[in-house]
Amino acid sequence: MILPPATLAMLGGGQLGRFFVAAAHEMGYAVWVLDPDAGSPAGRIADRHLCAAYDDAHALAEIAAHCAAATTEFENVPAATLAYLAARIPTHPSADAVGICQNRIVEKTFLLENGFPHGLFAIVLSEADIESANADLFPGILKVARFGYDGKGQALVESREAALAAYRAFKGEPAILEKRLALDCEVSVVLARDAQGQVQCFPVAENQHTRGILDISIVPARVTAVLADEARDIAGQIAARLGYVGVLAVEFFVSGGRVFVNEMAPRPHNSGHYTLDACTVSQYEQQVRALCGLPLHHPRTHSASVMVNLLGDCWFGAGGEAREPDWHMLQAIPNLKLHLYGKRQPRPGRKMGHFTVVGDSLGDVLEVALAARQELGIA
Ligand code: ADP
Ligand code: MG
Repeated sequence: MILPPATLAMLGGGQLGRFFVAAAHEMGYAVWVLDPDAGSPAGRIADRHLCAAYDDAHALAEIAAHCAAATTEFENVPAATLAYLAARIPTHPSADAVGICQNRIVEKTFLLENGFPHGLFAIVLSEADIESANADLFPGILKVARFGYDGKGQALVESREAALAAYRAFKGEPAILEKRLALDCEVSVVLARDAQGQVQCFPVAENQHTRGILDISIVPARVTAVLADEARDIAGQIAARLGYVGVLAVEFFVSGGRVFVNEMAPRPHNSGHYTLDACTVSQYEQQVRALCGLPLHHPRTHSASVMVNLLGDCWFGAGGEAREPDWHMLQAIPNLKLHLYGKRQPRPGRKMGHFTVVGDSLGDVLEVALAARQELGIA
């Protein structure tokens, strides 16, 4: 076991990394954050912020020399960085697992080869792949294989011609063409898995997206117990198949009453923020525990919860003028927990913070959260 006051390394300085730093601090660890952004949310509260690229040889050598273990908060860390660190200090998740989750072509192929339920898709490496694609794929979505997030690098395509146009607009980047599914809803499972293969799942979250970005997570998800168990079971099997150590999130589509894996994230997840306020252990504390070889907690969920993302759009008034959101109104709501990430530049679509409303009744919590969301002018 890696025990306090050891220093842990976090690759990536976003809000997920910031919550990891807070959890690790609470448990007595120090944290160094590697992120090229001087104002990164996690870097600002870290014991040390290495403001350098993810493949900076000097920064990586410093981490290997001074940190007891390393983990990541985003999937685009170069595999070579994880491999370099893994050869020197405990590094979780592995470069292999992250490599599968960071490329949609590899990810979908993994799902296919291992028999996990997924929607119809085609790999697109050339225009010919679109010309010959199954007609059942339309209407579809073309997604670039790498570096897409929050709906970026995606195009809705009604027809083969539209897919060709989108592929050209993406400059011939390797891509996936997916059939657009009629969604009953979307759900996600966040779990932690330790080096002995023990898995602890959090409850299933129901996720609503607006313009391709997570907007609201509702927990527990309003799906049948059978479906929720199936999603948790599949997520656990994926983690086992990846030989995963750490926190893994699996996003699912629910269509026609069945679950289909959408994608995996090799890190805590936006839809797991609720664990900070509605559970006895958060996804971030589990991430620290898995990394340090501490036994995982059995999460107990004491409240129903609804999480609402606060995008940079809330920092602008109806006339486009910059202003702070109405914190006074939000803070006056009982059992509403506000979290802000310390980002200085609000931009439309940028995740600036979130709030979670907790309570005994999901119906009541949802009503309060949606009313607060509306008061903030979120469209
Ligand atoms: P990101 O990496 O941006 O999260 P996703 O592949 O999860 O990308 O897509 C973002 C959202 O777009 C999904 O959560 C879902 O709402 C919608 N979406 C993506 N693919 C499909 C699909 N094949 N059918 C229906 N909706 C989809
Ligand atoms: Mg997604």
